[in-house]
Amino acid sequence: MLTKEEIGRNLAVIEGRISKACERSGRDRSEVTLIAVSKMNPAEAVIAAHECGIDTFGENKVQELCGKLEVIDAKLNWHLIGHLQTNKVKYIAGKVAMIHSVDSLKLAEVIDKESEKAGVVTDILLEINIAGEESKYGIAPSDAEDLARKIAPFKHVRICGLMTVAPETDEPETNRSYFRQMRELSVDIASKNIDNIFMNVLSMGMTGDFEVAVEEGATHVRVGTGIFGARDYTR
Ligand SMILES: *Cc1c(COP(=O)(O)O)cnc(C)c1O
Repeated sequence: MLTKEEIGRNLAVIEGRISKACERSGRDRSEVTLIAVSKMNPAEAVIAAHECGIDTFGENKVQELCGKLEVIDAKLNWHLIGHLQTNKVKYIAGKVAMIHSVDSLKLAEVIDKESEKAGVVTDILLEINIAGEESKYGIAPSDAEDLARKIAPFKHVRICGLMTVAPETDEPETNRSYFRQMRELSVDIASKNIDNIFMNVLSMGMTGDFEVAVEEGATHVRVGTGIFGARDYTR
């Protein structure tokens, strides 16, 4: 794990780059939320980042998220950003600020049911496989409006927007057209004015490409490595 000083320095660099990207695209910095992706990093790393001023964190696994919830006292905003199995929803209903990875009607149904039990309305995003990658979760862009319309009547979920994990690349510019397509899809669905469907959130951009994502309209960027350092996949 990086030291708190190192995490603080990384955060300052990322913050500067987000601000610059906002300036370049005529956006206000307040339009973009930085989600610190703490997966595979210990609770201590989350606490260190929180002490550096961050209160919004992303995790991709339910078990790891719940483990951190148990040991961290601070009231933080947790975003579930990874693939979610229906049988795990009950563990996080009422505990997360947003679920980014809704990609089926069945999953939305279960989130609705578990949210009702927990007495909450859960904010969700539809995950879009914008580049049509075989290996990725998410629905095709052409299926998004139909799925949104089917979920809209649910009383305990609120569709807030769209999310994507763009292709891995060393050249962030190659993802610009995908981010632009996400934005267009979002504007298109918003223009239909469907009850209980909001398109205020566009969750896209990671360590490798968040600046391009901000330039193309991201409201939430999900940055892990850039803040916490390389993840240790050998553990
Ligand atoms: C791990 C992860 C991220 C962060 O990736 P980095 O490249 O480390 O910034 C963002 N989004 C999702 C869905 C992830 O699983």
